Amino acid sequence: MAAVRLTVLGCSGSVTGPDSPASGYLLRSEGSPPVVIDFGGGVLGALQRHVDPRSAVVLLSHLHADHCLDVPGLLVWRRYAPGPVGERGLMYGPVGTAHRIGAASAETPGNIDDISDTIDLRTWVEATPVQIGDLTVTPMGVCHPPESFGLRVTAPDGAILVYSGDTAICEDIVELAQGADVFLCEASWEHDPENNPPGLHLSGREAGEIAERAGVKRLLLTHIPPWTSREAVLAEARAAFSGPVHAVSADESFDIVPSHVGENVATRS
Ligand SMILES: [Zn+2]
Ligand SMILES: [Zn+2]
Repeated sequence: MAAVRLTVLGCSGSVTGPDSPASGYLLRSEGSPPVVIDFGGGVLGALQRHVDPRSAVVLLSHLHADHCLDVPGLLVWRRYAPGPVGERGLMYGPVGTAHRIGAASAETPGNIDDISDTIDLRTWVEATPVQIGDLTVTPMGVCHPPESFGLRVTAPDGAILVYSGDTAICEDIVELAQGADVFLCEASWEHDPENNPPGLHLSGREAGEIAERAGVKRLLLTHIPPWTSREAVLAEARAAFSGPVHAVSADESFDIVPSHVGENVATRS
């Protein structure tokens, strides 16, 4: 059995979609509490199908609404849902996370809900790994308007999952993805540098080019908005990357295993 299993809670880019919540990815391993990377709209509901939300450690790549605005619901769950009141929930995010979530959770405009009663909030420090059970998570700044991090997750068996977060094309994301067994990468639009706004997101082609340059074993495309053609970004990525490419859907799971174990570096189930 693989050390780490990735389950897609939500993968719709920029907004919730007809078939998926916004960004949210559950990681489970024997030696760690459940970890949820990003917590966009609809993720709390999907999470309930898999684990007790109270048990989850939450990692926020950045503070755009589609990556964090189901956290106020998690606060309500932690404060009011029946069951044993455990320790505060661990959460990592960029500078300003307490203010951002506190504002969204406040009862009245202009107030900031103090979330420290139920959340133990820590701030990402560039390139400084954090240990969550047996998982090592290293945040690296990527190229996106608010402070934004991609995450490199290393399992105890050496398997490496890299999540791009939201990013435009830059050397930082190539470096972050280097040699990943699974590269979960955003692909928000078709390649059209003339018309796409700069410094914001990746095209399918760019996701494929990064995967190729970084020598990843498998590319999983995510964060495809409802208005973008899934087939088109998939085709772009396949043309640019020589390895296997798949566009994820909500509720899919993948075993993250080191590439030397065998050919199936990520097994869909
Ligand atoms: Zn986004
Ligand atoms: Zn964003």
